[in-house]
Amino acid sequence: MFDDADGDDVVERISPERAFELLGHETRLRILAELDDADDRVQFGDLRDRVGADDPGRFNYHLQELTDRFVRRSDEGYRIAPAGRRVVGAVRSGTLTKEMAAEPTAVDGSCTICDADLVAEFDGDTVRIRCVDCEWILTEPAVPPSVLEDWSIPAVPAATGRWLRRLGVSAKLGLCPNCDGRLDVGLYRPGDPGSPDWFSGTLSPAVRVATCRRCGHWWHTLAEIAVVTEPAVVAFHYEHGIDVFERPNWELDWVELDLASVESEDPLRVSIPITLDGETRTFVVDRDVSVVEVRDDPRP
Ligand SMILES: [Zn+2]
Ligand SMILES: [Zn+2]
Repeated sequence: MFDDADGDDVVERISPERAFELLGHETRLRILAELDDADDRVQFGDLRDRVGADDPGRFNYHLQELTDRFVRRSDEGYRIAPAGRRVVGAVRSGTLTKEMAAEPTAVDGSCTICDADLVAEFDGDTVRIRCVDCEWILTEPAVPPSVLEDWSIPAVPAATGRWLRRLGVSAKLGLCPNCDGRLDVGLYRPGDPGSPDWFSGTLSPAVRVATCRRCGHWWHTLAEIAVVTEPAVVAFHYEHGIDVFERPNWELDWVELDLASVESEDPLRVSIPITLDGETRTFVVDRDVSVVEVRDDPRP
């Protein structure tokens, strides 16, 4: 993982209360939305026309409140700042789409436990991918509706798979997918301080926990899946004609429950053997979920 020396923070923070105060006006949200839609910098008068504000004084007041933090100003005009773009994205991802409401749809891939077919069910904001036979639930993430916009229903499982893969990349890079803040990422055994309460070690001997220092967003991933975005593992799949960024976890045939094993508790070393086309390669990861050893097991 990425380490740095302790020191002064690079950025100045404002409280969530102050941020809501700054954004808590319809005109301000419209200003951000117009600037987000604009291809280029927008002059004051033009921006006022686009927003449809009648009172120039009030409009100027709202614009100044947003400037520096959410909007940047220069001689050429106004443009949206990254923080402002994020606000617009959050508002749009939540409001422009309805709840997911669709009949279940078939999913490529097969059950981790019994090899039967899979189905995706939609329930509020949750996409549940489960086995039609043994009822095993492979995954049940709450997916922002915006992720699933512009996909037909049969394509939703694949879109969900991509979204989950991006979570893996976020964990690898230590960047929160929710707020871009810094993530703490580690591999935990049952009972370790910081290990989730639900985690008993029966599905896998270790779980990756990612927690954002900034917004508190967190998620858990079993070790077998957490390793998929490691460069050495990506490369092994690539050698066998599989792009892990195109293929959801439930279409990776080698994934089984409790495939990983603990080789050492201190320092923690967890090994995950992956078999593709009859070739097995074992990846050993440390507490940071980085691959520290790769072994080619002899062919039988
Ligand atoms: Zn099953
Ligand atoms: Zn965050």
